[in-house]
Amino acid sequence: MAGFVIVGAGECGARAAFALRDMGFGGTITLIGSETHLPYERPPLSKEALVAGAGPKFVAEAERYAQARIDLLLGRTVREIDRAGRRVLLGDGTAVPYDKLLLATGARPRALPGTAHGGRIAALRSHDDAARIREHLVEGSHIAILGGGFIGLELAASARKLGAAVTLLEGLPRVLTRGVPAEIAEIVASRHRAEGVDILCGAKVANVEDLPGEVRITLEDGRVVPASLLVVGIGAVPNTELAEAAGLAVENGIAVDGLLRTSDPDIFAAGDCTSYPLALYGDRRIRLESWRNAQEQGQLAAANMLGGTEAHAAVPWFWSDQYDMTLQIAGLADGAVTTVRREVGEGAFILFHLDAGGRLIAASGIGPGNAVARDIRLAEMLIAARIHPDPAELAAPQTKLKKLLAA
Ligand code: FAD
Repeated sequence: MAGFVIVGAGECGARAAFALRDMGFGGTITLIGSETHLPYERPPLSKEALVAGAGPKFVAEAERYAQARIDLLLGRTVREIDRAGRRVLLGDGTAVPYDKLLLATGARPRALPGTAHGGRIAALRSHDDAARIREHLVEGSHIAILGGGFIGLELAASARKLGAAVTLLEGLPRVLTRGVPAEIAEIVASRHRAEGVDILCGAKVANVEDLPGEVRITLEDGRVVPASLLVVGIGAVPNTELAEAAGLAVENGIAVDGLLRTSDPDIFAAGDCTSYPLALYGDRRIRLESWRNAQEQGQLAAANMLGGTEAHAAVPWFWSDQYDMTLQIAGLADGAVTTVRREVGEGAFILFHLDAGGRLIAASGIGPGNAVARDIRLAEMLIAARIHPDPAELAAPQTKLKKLLAA
């Protein structure tokens, strides 16, 4: 028996490997990853671990892989999938045979056209990226961040905590355009400004010069931003090349069905690299870059590799921490026509988003610490239940969300 092979030793790949063992799989499990570290969590890289200068937060310690008889091949990159021969080929020519294969190759930072990451231009995806960026986060230094998405903003907050000056360049008229309502984005931007972050919206980069002592960013309107480091945070690109070269369907990610099977029934894909149809939103094909999704899909892929038939149905969920604020987003808000606001105390609130038919499709919350966590959890259940609530009831703080669920 050849066993199961997982390409990509990140959150998703590691969770899938353990899940296979936990579900009783007795064959060989080989987990192959390009990075030299044990699989680790990426969310802390822009948050507390960056501020603390901490080492990677591992998904599990080395002994647990040994106990679970998971063969870890780290610092090794799969270069080719030989579907006819049912094996993957590594960069050094080694061939690893498989009965079933899981692709959990994740995503990589999108590069600013015309620039390469290196020198004084960086991106933040890996622990090594974070360690390199942190060297510049000292009192008196000045970093420029291109992109007002979650990673750019979290990095800005961490940089301010460490005393670095921050200029954040966003090409669009506001930060967090993707997936966050303007009302919440405005609160986030104001807080950053109050913490001293210089946010320039509508900033289009014309030229970047990586000079010996500084990086110089020239904007289309002629403004020049000099910095000791430029961190490019303009989104991520799914790592689909292996799948594509093997002739698997790719559509904004490795295309899988609800069971996370690719167009080859012996090859599954999960996590950031994957696009999948979500029944809750009319089988619309989506790709998520979310920690919980990577975990859930890793576990589900494992179950379905073992013959399970469960479709991925989880409500998309994402969180972000900036200063003492936490944002949480459940569902997909882009079909919303009605939004109602519900106060949850401590200055926190949740925006509920309903579609044209009055169905609850998403909820976005912001507040200090865990203030929105409980209601967002309930909102997830309400979204999954496809309820059509009375907007006034949703907005009223005295309405128990649990009651709506029971109804
Ligand atoms: P990855 O974690 O990208 O792992 C894929 C692995 O596969 C990588 O190690 C890669 O090197 C390896 N690989 C790729 N190709 C090959 C190959 N050919 N051979 C061998 N190995 C290969 N999500 C949230 O929900 N909330 C957050 O607050 C949040 N914060 C984040 C902060 C940062 C800085 C980053 C980068 C991400 C954050 N995320 C957050 C997103 C979350 O971390 C990702 O969704 C999650 O890591 C995806 O897991 P994955 O296993 O699918 O992919």
